[in-house]
Amino acid sequence: MTARPIRDPAPALIAGLKAIVGPNGWIADPADQERYLVDERRLFRGRTPLVVRPGTTDEVSRVVALCAAHDAAIVPQGGNTGLVGGGVPYESGDQIVLSLARMNRIRSVSALDYAMTVDAGCILVDIQEAARRVDRLFPLSLAAEGTCTIGGNLSTNAGGVNVLRYGSARDLVLGLEVVLADGRIWNGLRGLRKDNTGYDLKHVFMGAEGTLGIITGAVLKLFPLPRQVRTGFVGVPSVRAAVDLLSRLQGATGGRITAFEVLPRFGLDLVLTHIEGTKDPLPAAHPWYVLFDASSGDDGEALTTSLESALAAALDAGLVVDATLAVSEAQARALWRIRETLPEAQKPAGGSIKHDVSVPITRFAELIERAQAAVLATVPGVRPLPFGHLGDGNVHLNFSQPLGGDTAAFMAEWERVNHLVHDIVHELGGSISAEHGLGRLKREEIRRYKPPLELELMRTLKTALDPKGLLNPGKVL
Ligand code: FAD
Ligand code: ZN
Repeated sequence: MTARPIRDPAPALIAGLKAIVGPNGWIADPADQERYLVDERRLFRGRTPLVVRPGTTDEVSRVVALCAAHDAAIVPQGGNTGLVGGGVPYESGDQIVLSLARMNRIRSVSALDYAMTVDAGCILVDIQEAARRVDRLFPLSLAAEGTCTIGGNLSTNAGGVNVLRYGSARDLVLGLEVVLADGRIWNGLRGLRKDNTGYDLKHVFMGAEGTLGIITGAVLKLFPLPRQVRTGFVGVPSVRAAVDLLSRLQGATGGRITAFEVLPRFGLDLVLTHIEGTKDPLPAAHPWYVLFDASSGDDGEALTTSLESALAAALDAGLVVDATLAVSEAQARALWRIRETLPEAQKPAGGSIKHDVSVPITRFAELIERAQAAVLATVPGVRPLPFGHLGDGNVHLNFSQPLGGDTAAFMAEWERVNHLVHDIVHELGGSISAEHGLGRLKREEIRRYKPPLELELMRTLKTALDPKGLLNPGKVL
């Protein structure tokens, strides 16, 4: 759905927006707007007459109402770390960027309720810290956590490394506050654990990537802070062995595995080469690695004992070749740094054609084997770099360009390679966007796979909640 374009926004609109947010709440100079206009992957660069940065829900409401009165499109933005181009405006130059960044107040924290109420612009790491201060855990965690906002996390239904145990962003929410397309405020900030009074409206706005409403606040679920987290790094012979290992470790620890990531040797090599201060955690090289966290609510030895005996049994069964358990927080951080810097370390390897896909865990190994074979047969010399959240059946199936090849020629294969991989994912009953969303990048691709009835229902929701098509037009649908 695209908005009616107004090439030159009415001067009354621009003046009115400036008046609502005050002198510190807007940016009109294109040079100062730069970081709001380009997406994280630098795939899209847009233009805007004005970036507005309201400081309160009431200001957001008035901004949206004024835009609606002028038929002006709005692009909501949090930390602008999204990976599908959803948070930046189009090139048309008539879309207003609405940044939530100034709305970064933790409104309240209740340890007893295991709940926290926050502004949508709060940085994820600040929320994690506020929870820790009252001896609670907010488990959403991803490599962009120092920059991304909770509003962006909820709008993309972000995943990250703890989904296995705690669920995706939408599973961590008790209530929402949303500014609707006409500017009205829906106050759904109820911190209830149980509320079956009709449709669960908050879930409509989560994962909607800013196309149905502007999230301005949320009540988040908190959890007991684990007393200990053991981090392990394991060399395994194959992805199949890694899948087996997850099941064994979950069984042995009574489901205490909170993160379970996989990466190939090629990925570790890139990190060791390009990221300063990293070193190989194991003495010999292995084809694949697992990085896991196991958490426990007590600080006794039971968790370590069960991990060690499960790893020893897996070693005997040939599922594990070598393993190390971190003995200090610094060691654990060093292991996680390998995983977290992997996307950065891949950049010097040149062009990368990326996928963010999921399948049932039983099909995980088959997906990687088949996708690698198919892409290698089409683009000889391509270097597969599948890594990510095995515990959720979610893999970032990236392909680095052939060594010494031409980057532009390789990147021109993007769509063909996407189709190859996504067709296999689809056949295995998977999703072509496991955690990053559709945004602008996958808006067309999804039409190849999603049943027409589902697309029709999505359009019905869009028309009902945003009849003028002014909220983030051209994204998702
Ligand atoms: P933005 O990028 O600003 O926006 C994202 C989308 O949400 C856009 O469509 C925007 O219009 C909309 N939006 C933003 N705020 C609001 C709001 N308040 N109301 C309505 N709509 C809004 N994602 C994962 O799921 N798992 C990962 O492990 C992961 N790792 C990452 C690692 C790195 C290094 C980076 C750069 C990104 C990663 N991501 C990951 C992508 C992830 O989607 C974002 O990091 C994050 O969730 C987006 O938050 P943001 O505040 O930056 O949102
Ligand atoms: Zn991820």
